[in-house]
Amino acid sequence: MINIDGSMGEGGGQVLRTSLALSMITGQPVRIENIRAKRPKPGLLRQHLTSVEAACAVCDGQAVGMSLGSSKIDFKPGPIKGGTYHFAIGTAGSTTLVLQTVLPALMIASEPSTLTITGGTHNPHAPSVCFLTHAFLPILQKMGPKVRVHLDRHGFYPAGGGKIRIDIEPVNRLIPIELVEAQPVVGSQAIATISGLDVSIATRELNTVAGMLGWSDDQLQIEQIQSSACAGNVLTLTVKRENITEVFTGFGSRGVSAERVASNAARDVEQYLASGVPVWEHLADQLMIPMALAGAGAYQTGSLSEHALTNAMVIEAFGHHKVHHKSEGNRSLITTSTP
Ligand code: ATP
Repeated sequence: MINIDGSMGEGGGQVLRTSLALSMITGQPVRIENIRAKRPKPGLLRQHLTSVEAACAVCDGQAVGMSLGSSKIDFKPGPIKGGTYHFAIGTAGSTTLVLQTVLPALMIASEPSTLTITGGTHNPHAPSVCFLTHAFLPILQKMGPKVRVHLDRHGFYPAGGGKIRIDIEPVNRLIPIELVEAQPVVGSQAIATISGLDVSIATRELNTVAGMLGWSDDQLQIEQIQSSACAGNVLTLTVKRENITEVFTGFGSRGVSAERVASNAARDVEQYLASGVPVWEHLADQLMIPMALAGAGAYQTGSLSEHALTNAMVIEAFGHHKVHHKSEGNRSLITTSTP
């Protein structure tokens, strides 16, 4: 039994998700205590509970301590099995973070899988579907697995009600890759998505982006959604390089001006472009598990977030994969190996 202290490092839900993923993949049972101890509402929320349920489903696993608010679980995995699964979070909890829990196991399963997950699809503090589709999954595909995410219905906070479908074609082994160079930018795009809100919000966001980043009209797009359960606004900024695409997301929220949402996201783009590294903050922590499973490979990013450092600690705690990081100034090189 591997013992994980959920309060380690950042002490959030990532410790739980990464622990479940590694437990499924290595076949080692895990006990996780102090779950999300450093979050304002510690313990398992609906999204985390669904992640544990999903982990049990895809590997015939058993979990003790599965209840809302629980701060400790024991998880015993069985063999990973691809198949058709449906997971319903029941709140606006993030569908993409439930996917993050089971994807590492299902992308190296013996059979393909089709998942549907209902809940939030565009949540602050989680990858948006656009981020997965344009930034994360193309890199994963270079490593072997083919994963397609279809957005059937947008789900915004607080109503949720969104739906994603995921098709996973797994591989036996992941191919190591290198992402160490920031190759030239070949395209950039801004999409302001609104549902149930005045179109002027989207226009103001795009004007702000155009002013700060110098992007022209043909790079700016408004997307109006009709079918979501509540109003929502997301600004997606995409920077495509020859070897990688990065996605920066601004989330509209009550009391925050459209200009503020857009300028925060545009500032992230400015910092990314000035940094000269290919991989930015969120990809840096999300690539860690696939890169560790590949057992080799490297990527260059900026200063490592507490989130990424915590992820590395959890991966290493399972004893099968090593994550090395070498930092120099504002740059960090991540490499992985198997001991
Ligand atoms: P909680 O404890 O509430 O579950 P957490 O600690 O798991 O939260 P975060 O640390 O905020 O949550 O991050 C969750 C995941 O979402 C990480 O993999 C992070 O890279 C990703 N993420 C967060 N914000 C974004 C974003 N804007 N774009 C892409 N990915 C994001």
